[in-house]
Amino acid sequence: ATPVSIMVGTGRAAELGILFRKGEALQRLDGAKVIAFDKTGTLTEGRPALVRRETAPGFDAETVLRLAASAEQGSEHPIARALEQAAGAAPAPEEVEAIPGHGLRARVEGQSVLVGNARLMARENIDVTALSDTLHQMERAAQTPVLVALDGTLAGAFAVADRIKPGARAAVDALKQAGLRVAMISGDARPVAEAIGADLGIDQIEAEVLPEGKLDAVRALRERFGPVVFVGDGINDAPALAEADVGLAIGTGTDVAIESADVVLSSGAVAGAVNAVHVSRAVMRNIR
Ligand code: ADP
Ligand code: MG
Repeated sequence: ATPVSIMVGTGRAAELGILFRKGEALQRLDGAKVIAFDKTGTLTEGRPALVRRETAPGFDAETVLRLAASAEQGSEHPIARALEQAAGAAPAPEEVEAIPGHGLRARVEGQSVLVGNARLMARENIDVTALSDTLHQMERAAQTPVLVALDGTLAGAFAVADRIKPGARAAVDALKQAGLRVAMISGDARPVAEAIGADLGIDQIEAEVLPEGKLDAVRALRERFGPVVFVGDGINDAPALAEADVGLAIGTGTDVAIESADVVLSSGAVAGAVNAVHVSRAVMRNIR
């Protein structure tokens, strides 16, 4: 592309709230075959709420929730905010260890507290059969189960649910119309990711991906389909933003997202990704 047409293109994009940090990104965006989205905070609001609470026999929901919220006090994961909000005041934990992609382990009021997904419970040899029917119901309803174990015994399961962003479905449709294969990469449980992906009309769903696996997921998509655009909010996904042929940072504008991305969208709207693709197509069409 000529420098002038690229300048015109990036200028037009800026008016739409799309910042191209590198001119080549405009060209690479035009040649992309796949657009892969992070789920939490990118396709969904990233502000899950607690929607259901269940306990194993012999445990009291208030107590289990309060201990889980204590364990989550220092965590930046959106699930932590949902539990804290529902629990209200909770004591400070004595010790906490975050386990990325799984949850966390803490000591609260002298008890060992595990909070996280089924993978965490499997890893810690916690038997979840007492609540397995409940867990499946939650997942089928596109709710993420948050399991809590106290001193090595499953005590409760809380469901959190995040809302799909308004306009996300229409944006996915428009990207498919533009000839792109649309993928979603998520650390969430497969049934939850699949339920949300089906609502959105996503073609390809990669679920239960560990934080460090998002980069590999981008590479695998590239091998199968060709150049990949990755759209993320920078929470847990900066390496994937950097690895993608075009990294598109959305919304929150965390420093790490901006630094890792080729394109930065000033709003959190998924439609920004559609506009970015349309601008790149228009510029490249003019040049050819
Ligand atoms: P995502 O952003 O897609 O949720 P993560 O890698 O951050 O991906 O987390 C994957 C899964 O691990 C979450 O869906 C959740 O089930 C569990 N998890 C991670 N961190 C926490 C936490 N602080 N509290 C509870 N569960 C957690
Ligand atoms: Mg995210």
